[in-house]
Amino acid sequence: MIQVEEKYSYDDVLLIPSYADFLPGEASVKTRLAGDIWLNAPIISAAMDTVTEYQMAIALALEGGAGVIHRNLSPEEQAQQVGRVKRYLNWIISSPVVVQKGQTVADVEKIMTDTGVTGLPVLDGTILCGIITNRDMRFCSDLSQKVEDVMTTNLILERGTPTVETARDKFDKHRIEKLPVVDNGGHLTGLITVSDMEKHKNFPMAAIDDSGSLVVGAAVSPNDYMQRIPLLKAKGCNFVVLDTAHGNSLSVMQAIEGIKKNFDILVVGGNVSDGDGARRLIDAGSDAIKVGVGPGSICTTRIVAGIGVPQLSAVYESAEVAQKFDIPVIADGGIKYSGDITKAIAAGASCIMVGNLFAGLKEAPGKEVIFEGRIFKQYRGMGSIGAIKEGSGDRYQMKKDDEPVPEGIEGRVPFKGELKPYLNQLVTGLQKGMGYCGCRTIEQLRSYKKFVKISSAGLRESHAHDVNITQEAPNYSRY
Ligand code: 5GP
Repeated sequence: MIQVEEKYSYDDVLLIPSYADFLPGEASVKTRLAGDIWLNAPIISAAMDTVTEYQMAIALALEGGAGVIHRNLSPEEQAQQVGRVKRYLNWIISSPVVVQKGQTVADVEKIMTDTGVTGLPVLDGTILCGIITNRDMRFCSDLSQKVEDVMTTNLILERGTPTVETARDKFDKHRIEKLPVVDNGGHLTGLITVSDMEKHKNFPMAAIDDSGSLVVGAAVSPNDYMQRIPLLKAKGCNFVVLDTAHGNSLSVMQAIEGIKKNFDILVVGGNVSDGDGARRLIDAGSDAIKVGVGPGSICTTRIVAGIGVPQLSAVYESAEVAQKFDIPVIADGGIKYSGDITKAIAAGASCIMVGNLFAGLKEAPGKEVIFEGRIFKQYRGMGSIGAIKEGSGDRYQMKKDDEPVPEGIEGRVPFKGELKPYLNQLVTGLQKGMGYCGCRTIEQLRSYKKFVKISSAGLRESHAHDVNITQEAPNYSRY
């Protein structure tokens, strides 16, 4: 008799509720993505050319998640996009644009035009001696004047290691726009700007790294990582995702070893669908494991190749192994509702990756299209004909000039408006799930694992049924 193992998808199960001594809103959704990178929302956006470019990565990281910039872009363009995310928010700018004593007002004007920076510390060697802004130069008609004759010398500054509170105090009290930071010898060590302070205040949940800039990742492949990573690192990229459809393969293991040997950067390996794949990626040096072979909404791998593992079991089995090594698991693909996020984490994932759910957002790069009077956005698999033609074929082990044999389709999803309110629906849905399970933290939910299998009658009962929906809910739709 043929032996066939039973494995489960998100729709096959529900979580059994338990006693809770707190309200859902009190549940913490903070989680570890990889290494020392922490997120304040356990959601990252897929490295797909209709999902994540810098606009999505900025919007998501400001709310606590992180974006992975896709790689259907030249290495230079991809690194530039990472740079835009990193520059969006700073705490202390460690290498601010400066001018030297002795330079002229004309020099300053040129630097300001070239860089778009409007206030520059003035240095004598490395010692701070003043600051020059547009205001100082407003009535200066002689452009050959030296900078030290027009700069402001009565300086408000921070000495040593400032805190957000001391810096905010100075901005409030002195109505300044730039706050230089110096060491005890008066050498310039950094610069804080009022616009960065405001952004930190307006986005308290932002996912930031030690330097105070937004967390962002970028996709690389075994064929291009040597070329891409130096450029990505130069822009401050926090992690790379070795983005392949078959992570449990020799070329991916060699690439992970190559990345770890040549570069000091966190690497997410994937995709795998069982404990064996997870174990090999960990042995090769992965800092996190991405799980999902064929669950994606635009993916046809399971139909074209006849392989795959239903996603809940894939996550569960990979996480069982990864947990022993304290390596986080990312559940990638197949998330349709916020309840699936709760299930993925309860199966052991530390965070989830979504494509479909974000592709309809304003911040996604896909084109808007009107169909039968409603607005949609284009959403396509990276293994679809269109995406392969733009460079992503090697994710599916295809060579550049091969006739495309797609593992994904091109489609459209309804336009959903801006990310912030939509993400709030997802995160609050997760917190509701955590409340029902009595789990106050992601760590507690990760070890919850109290699933029940449901029948097709159970799934029918779970969805809205026997009613015509007259008012669409922002967190529920059925195709
Ligand atoms: P979704 O959130 O739409 O269900 O799944 C998104 C995930 O599907 C991506 O993060 C990626 O892992 C996977 N994916 C993207 N494009 C394709 C494709 O064309 N084929 C396959 N097999 N998977 C894809």
